Amino acid sequence: MFKGWLIDKIDGKQSVAFTDIDEANLPEGDVRVRVAYSTINYKDALALTGKGPVVRHFPMVPGVDLAGHVETSSDPAFKPGDEVFLNGWGVGETHWGGLAELASLKAAWLLKPPTGLSLRQIMALGTAGYTAMLAIMALEKHGLKPGDGPILVTGASGGVGGFSISFLATLGFQVIASTGRLQETDYLKSLGASEIIDRAELASPGKPLGRERWAGAIDSVGGHTLANVCASTRYEGAVAACGLAQGMDFPATVAPFILRGVTLYGIDSVYRTNETRRVAWDRIANVLNRQQLDLISHERPLAQALQTAEDLFAGAVRGRVIITIG
Ligand code: NDP
Repeated sequence: MFKGWLIDKIDGKQSVAFTDIDEANLPEGDVRVRVAYSTINYKDALALTGKGPVVRHFPMVPGVDLAGHVETSSDPAFKPGDEVFLNGWGVGETHWGGLAELASLKAAWLLKPPTGLSLRQIMALGTAGYTAMLAIMALEKHGLKPGDGPILVTGASGGVGGFSISFLATLGFQVIASTGRLQETDYLKSLGASEIIDRAELASPGKPLGRERWAGAIDSVGGHTLANVCASTRYEGAVAACGLAQGMDFPATVAPFILRGVTLYGIDSVYRTNETRRVAWDRIANVLNRQQLDLISHERPLAQALQTAEDLFAGAVRGRVIITIG
């Protein structure tokens, strides 16, 4: 038996419990991993609380991120004791995930840590840090460089937001942070934001085109915010959209795209190739400010995963929570 979170649905009613799970019930996989750390992403919080339709099969162990040690492997790429980690691939949605002591996984989903990052640091970053880097890579591919003008980061006090600010600032970009938590101004400035704006400025229906305010943006909020972010992006600028904390809708007009040549990039982290993942994680290992990692993240034990999910929706989690397991 091993300890873990199990989400079930009986007669249309979802339940969640921290419980003992029989190893015999683990799904098929090439590699069995003793999980040392996981984390609570926005998607994990949706799954644990049942607020969003994240889980596709029941029962399900949630947790889209995990890091730990190989116990057994039928794939020669891994041997017992190897350090491995995983982000996404539908784990925690369609395949049992990381919020448990044991996981049985496909070898093709697992990566070895990039040089210079520990398993704990990788889970402090998690899908949030990796997605922030994917968004930055999209803006760079577009041609944006430090000096081109400020980059706006929405959802700034969250996981994706915090790492976006930190990485952009380290790379030399000027960063504007949009937040609903103005009391976190000192924290956001310590991550590297030079200007803080109230998210209320962007949250309501706006004009098709606004004043040109930023050269680019990383948006984890969606809804009216994303529409307003695009409307105030400078000529030939770019926006990387990765989230829906405000909403799944996109109530925008084509004006920013056809009158200002703005480009909107969609960022998915779940099914990226391992080649792209390695590039992103190597870049993270290079740009990460290790001291800021301690500012952005803190630990909680596995038993507190559900409470952490509830705290996330209550706006009571700043940055990231590392779930300690091993
Ligand atoms: P967090 O909960 O850590 O951060 C979200 C932030 O959004 C909050 O901290 C808050 O920031 C802001 N926010 C919350 N509710 C609202 C609201 N109603 N209106 C406006 N802003 C709001 O989540 P993550 O950083 O883990 O994820 C952010 C988003 O990105 C989520 O929607 C998530 O699903 C998505 N995501 C997508 C990925 C992909 O592959 N595309 C990968 C990872 C995440 P503040 O208090 O500063 O305003």
